[in-house]
Amino acid sequence: MTKQIVIIGAGPAGLIFSLLSSTSNNSISLVESRPVFERKNDKRALALSASSRYILEKIDIWNDIEDKIIPIKSIHTSQKGTFGRSKLSADEFNTEALGYIVTYGDLIVALEEKIMAQKKITLFYETKVEKIDEIKEDKQKIICHQASKLLTLDCNLLVLADGGHSRIDGLSIAREEKIIDHLAIVTQVYSDKPHKNIAFERFTSSGPIALLPNHQGAYSLVWTGPKDKINDLVALDKNNFLKALQEEFGERVGQFESCEKRVSFSLVQSSIVTVHNKNVVAIGNAAQIMHPVAGQGLNTGLRDALSLSELIINNKIIQTSDELIKNYLESRKIETESMLKITEGLTTLFTNDFIGINKLRGLALAILDCTPILKKKFVQKMSYGK
Ligand SMILES: Cc1cc2nc3c(=O)[nH]c(=O)nc-3n(C[C@H](O)[C@H](O)[C@H](O)COP(=O)(O)OP(=O)(O)OC[C@H]3O[C@@H](n4cnc5c(N)ncnc54)[C@H](O)[C@@H]3O)c2cc1C
Repeated sequence: MTKQIVIIGAGPAGLIFSLLSSTSNNSISLVESRPVFERKNDKRALALSASSRYILEKIDIWNDIEDKIIPIKSIHTSQKGTFGRSKLSADEFNTEALGYIVTYGDLIVALEEKIMAQKKITLFYETKVEKIDEIKEDKQKIICHQASKLLTLDCNLLVLADGGHSRIDGLSIAREEKIIDHLAIVTQVYSDKPHKNIAFERFTSSGPIALLPNHQGAYSLVWTGPKDKINDLVALDKNNFLKALQEEFGERVGQFESCEKRVSFSLVQSSIVTVHNKNVVAIGNAAQIMHPVAGQGLNTGLRDALSLSELIINNKIIQTSDELIKNYLESRKIETESMLKITEGLTTLFTNDFIGINKLRGLALAILDCTPILKKKFVQKMSYGK
């Protein structure tokens, strides 16, 4: 059965879902509110897993972005104030890399170029979805604002890929939200030593700090912590900011010498409990938002996109949208719940400051470091979600 599919949001989840689904005989429209330059200039570093690489190869994007990608050859995890640490290296697992760093903007550019070249998907830019109407005969109308015009699109299946923050009239969603009350600073930092494709994760009592190897010898920094602390860090001048980072991070990457503009993000953990509207399904951050500590938000979202597109493409027995959505939700439930638990567990475990806990965490990292089977399971989960 040919469906009119409307996707709200041309972030990575919406764009990739549209490309994965474009081999079906459905009509696909993608609606995006933000201007192109804003999304293309997003310097956020994303750590792609092996399963995300597989998905990007499937839509023939991997070769287009390969020169923009930095492979992670090893991951060094440590905790401030203890000796325990864990080191994972790609060689131990006979793999080329443990993950791949790409900036959000570079990924968006490559995906949009592919969509333009393919001409199967209709893109509406700078168009904001404001309202969805009730369903009549399995169809509903999506009302959008494009500059000062109103635009109406018909659809049988509405795929929400809006990142989970937009307010759309007529949409009724119950979410479970955990207020983390933490912020993340994102910037590029430069040190006096080459990164050698090593990613670092350092847990401190106020939150984790990740340094991801990037282009021109830079590290992409993601430093998360309580709101007040992060706001103070954003307000510092460059030299004092680098000094504060050096104090928390130690000397393992050498001396920090400079950094670029600091941008802060607020962090929430949230997941959809129920979508009350018929014919509406969510993928990516619209379905679940995770703390960036384990770098799994986008990777999980891309597996959502793959799973939903496979159900649409393999829809040999004609399913109603209700059946399709039910099958999709069942296919994603276990993985999503476990990923949310892991990321939440990592943030609370490593930011707890009870007496004695610090040593135990150091010990846990040391145990992980010398137990191959634990390491293998951990890498498998982070690479493939299972
Ligand atoms: C600091 C930080 C670091 C991160 N690091 C990693 C990492 O290393 N690895 C990883 O896997 N994940 C990481 N993440 C998470 C990752 O960025 C998100 O999971 C990912 O961007 C989600 O993609 P998405 O397409 O679902 O949503 P988004 O990227 O949020 O895109 C949603 C799009 O929908 C559009 N939109 C919203 N409402 C409307 C509307 N009403 N009408 C039209 N358009 C609309 C928005 O403009 C936007 O372009 C990180 C996140 C943060 C904050």
